[in-house]
Formats: sequence, C-alpha cells, structure tokens
Amino acid sequence: MYKDNTDIQQLASLKTLKDVKDWVEIAYPRWIVGTAKRFSDDYPHLTCSWVEMCKTLKVKPAEILLVSYLPHKEDTERKILNAVCDIFSRSGFVIRRAHEFQQCTICESLLPSQQVWNKLTVKPPFEWKNCCRMCEKSA
Ligand SMILES: [Zn+2]
Repeated sequence: MYKDNTDIQQLASLKTLKDVKDWVEIAYPRWIVGTAKRFSDDYPHLTCSWVEMCKTLKVKPAEILLVSYLPHKEDTERKILNAVCDIFSRSGFVIRRAHEFQQCTICESLLPSQQVWNKLTVKPPFEWKNCCRMCEKSA
C-alpha cells in the first residue's frame, strides 16, 4: 500500500502546498483522511510535541494532518510518501494516524480514540470520554 508509484521529480516540480495536496489526492487516493485544527486540552503532551517539532523546524504550527497510513522514515519502498510527509512537516503540519483519533463531540478538537487510550502506558487521571472535560462541564 502506498509504495512509490511515480517519479519523485513530479513531486519536486510542485510549487505550493496546495499543489502538493492536490497531487497527493490523485497519486495516493484516500491517504489524507482529513485535517483538524487542534488537539484537546485534556492531552497537552500532544500539542507540546507538535510545538516542539515546529520549533525544531522553525515554522509555525499549521494543522493536524490525519492520514490512513504512516510510513516508516527508512522505508525504501515509500520514499515519495516520506517526502510528502516532510513537505507537510516543514509547513507546520503534524501528521497522525486518523484511526487513532476522534473529534470532541462539542468543540471538534482531537482526542485519542478509546482503543489508543486503553493502550496508554501512562494514563491521564480521568476516564476516557468522547469530549473534552471542559466541554462536558460547559455543556
Ligand atoms: Zn472539546
């Protein structure tokens, strides 16, 4: 799935991030599942690691890119997809597996899915919910 299927020169010739997004949607259909603006405040480490990544790359956080598949960095059969990931990262996007997250039912920020939550080795001091704790309070 999503192995290199085109000439990387095609990707190199694209000028804007929108061009890359449009190209990806044709070259790798359904790889991009969606985008989100933010993570829930209940899981600050998710936002922290994103901000740290952006600091390292000297860019501003843009959006969360949700994908159906995340290639290994050293995957020699998916160099193009890794290059696409690089382009998005260098534009301030954090890339996460779509199936590991779901949106808060109230504010639409991202929460880990219940399955992922159950597997956390260090669990937050509250039960998993399908909305943020603050959102639940104000609802
Ligand atoms: Zn919320």
